[in-house]
Amino acid sequence: MVKIFLDPGHGGNDPGTIGNGLQEKDLTLAIARELQQILESNYKDVNVRLSRTKDRTVSLNQRTSAANQWNADYLLSIHINAGGGEGFESYIWRGNFNGKSRTEKIRSVIHRAIIDEMNWRDRGEKEANFHMLRESTMPAALTENGFIDNEEEAEQMKTKQWIKKVAIAHANGIAEAINLNEAESSDAPKPEEGAFYRVVCGSFRKLKNAKERKYVLNKKGFQSFLSPYHEEETTYYRVIVGSFQNKSNAEDRLKELQNIGFDCFITVFEE
Ligand SMILES: [Zn+2]
Repeated sequence: MVKIFLDPGHGGNDPGTIGNGLQEKDLTLAIARELQQILESNYKDVNVRLSRTKDRTVSLNQRTSAANQWNADYLLSIHINAGGGEGFESYIWRGNFNGKSRTEKIRSVIHRAIIDEMNWRDRGEKEANFHMLRESTMPAALTENGFIDNEEEAEQMKTKQWIKKVAIAHANGIAEAINLNEAESSDAPKPEEGAFYRVVCGSFRKLKNAKERKYVLNKKGFQSFLSPYHEEETTYYRVIVGSFQNKSNAEDRLKELQNIGFDCFITVFEE
């Protein structure tokens, strides 16, 4: 199991860079969510966690603590640039540390994959003393994806295709750099079938109880969402801890939850 920690930069009362009607925090979140979906759907034995899954304030310390406590294998922090310019640049930590050559190698592969896919102007593979890179205990990189104050680039950023393309570019790079195995088509339904394997951790008649379970799961580091389920006249609130196109990823999540004492099961959800 490879654990990848994605960090959508900024959020909540920190918008990051702003320009052309866009806010960095929205773009980084959209890219990270799309990237998570691509990685979990297309690759085997990969577990992705985000430092935030919605527009909320998370400190830099909270972000690196979450990645370190989870013991992630790789950390990728996603940002959008500003200040007059165009194109793409990436960062690793400037300091001297154990395993720097491996960190450098992984970043290089990701950097090149992104430049190739996006056809971006290459601003270089750089080093800096950023908190996310310095305080994380696993190999880490930070990407700066275009300039929000560049009118031409901002126009593209406003489209869903751009978000998706940036996410695919990152996924290709990560997969190549850390040798992710592609999911065999036999254990995943075709995307057009619109079927998802959902990991359900609790089904409650009272919404309040479902919310409480969601809270407890969150404390243990699992993001979840509630989904109403109708059985005859009764509505149940199911707590969903992951929705996967790939069955073995759903099974991995299930095992992870069972190991810490949650009673969960998998259902197939059709869109
Ligand atoms: Zn930023």
